[in-house]
Amino acid sequence: MAGVHSKGLEDYKVEFLQENLLAWYKTSGRRFYWRKKGLSQYQYIIAEVLLQRTKAETIAKFYPLFILEFPNWLSLANADLKAIEVFLKPIGLYTQRALRLQNLAREMVKRKGRLPRDRKDLESIPFMGQYIANAVELVIYNQPSPLVDVNMARVIERFFSPRKMADIRYDPYLQGLAYKIVNHQNARYINWAILDFAAIICQARKPKCVICLINNNCHYFKTIVNP
Ligand code: SF4
Repeated sequence: MAGVHSKGLEDYKVEFLQENLLAWYKTSGRRFYWRKKGLSQYQYIIAEVLLQRTKAETIAKFYPLFILEFPNWLSLANADLKAIEVFLKPIGLYTQRALRLQNLAREMVKRKGRLPRDRKDLESIPFMGQYIANAVELVIYNQPSPLVDVNMARVIERFFSPRKMADIRYDPYLQGLAYKIVNHQNARYINWAILDFAAIICQARKPKCVICLINNNCHYFKTIVNP
């Protein structure tokens, strides 16, 4: 009985989070070039590869120029590696990242730029990996594949309750909740809303709990900030 009750509460909180964060995103979300409508699949994928483990604001500084210089898979595949590295210097590990980008581009040229719809086929593309396959599903196909990083994990854990496992990729509780939250007709907007909310309000060191619009249902707020 207790399980049913907590399940109902969890579903209620998921809906509450979706509604409130979507409304918040409309007025307060960040506007990045790669979130525009009508970009090519190439442009969306390159953005996601660059965004992995790097602050969005850092990528925003050079992304439009990068796309101007390398507008499609073919130009990136044929580029001089050093020319790619010049752009990637601010984000660290730039040689590896440049190589990875170029190898992915070469693979996509071989495939004539076609992305498979099937998840297994998608993941089988060399240099793509699970995270980028999720990003393709979310951003290009608008499917509920959450991009769970430390920031999204922080918001979910504070709002619901802490995860059990150290590695966020393998924690079924966290992953399950992330999937539920993003399982919405506006899957990609919900995902972006959580990332922006994590960067602006539910910050790692100093969460702005007092002005937070969802604090009345937040586990962290009720147990730590205002017990
Ligand atoms: S109340 Fe605080 S901890 Fe909870 S979601 Fe808002 S900012 Fe994060």
